[in-house]
Amino acid sequence: MNKLNIDFEKVDGLVPAIIQDADTNKVLMLGYMNQEAIDITLETKKVTFFSRTKNRLWTKGETSGNFLHVASLTVDCDNDTILIKAKPVGPVCHTGDDTCFAEENKSKTFFIDELRAIIKDRKNNPTDKSYTASLFAKGINKVAQKVGEEAVEIVIEAKDDNKELFMGEAADLLYHYLVLLEAKGYELDEVMEVLIDRHQKK
Ligand SMILES: [Zn+2]
Repeated sequence: MNKLNIDFEKVDGLVPAIIQDADTNKVLMLGYMNQEAIDITLETKKVTFFSRTKNRLWTKGETSGNFLHVASLTVDCDNDTILIKAKPVGPVCHTGDDTCFAEENKSKTFFIDELRAIIKDRKNNPTDKSYTASLFAKGINKVAQKVGEEAVEIVIEAKDDNKELFMGEAADLLYHYLVLLEAKGYELDEVMEVLIDRHQKK
């Protein structure tokens, strides 16, 4: 049964499958699938191609362990290309690169989570040298005041045309905002929940 309405005759039995990271949206690789490869992929939730060079079914990661766990599988408007959103276990390319296009599979906004972890650590394990720890030591009023100051500074830079200075203030504000959330004991995810909730109500 061809559940996906793919016209395999039109494509000589093989459809290209674009593999995209379900979290970062980076294109990881491209492979080809026949009906059996699609069936196995859907059944095992591990991306399985038909390898034209090996001339057999090939589960990505079968030797390296770097499987691609399927999050979703869709077919394009012409029913002849597959898009699979997946979560990769490790580097996708045999060269060791994150993707087959030699890209780093990371959006820089992911650094926010890393930064939050560092801020949390400075709160829980303060050191004398840490500016972040010194903010926590001064208490909530001081932390909140810093956010206010940085907000004023970004307003001032917004009126000017100096990208470097504006970026510096934008970074200062974001950092102090994260420190304030941590000082209050709240998670950024909770702020996201409020935003997601508002968005859904529209
Ligand atoms: Zn590759």
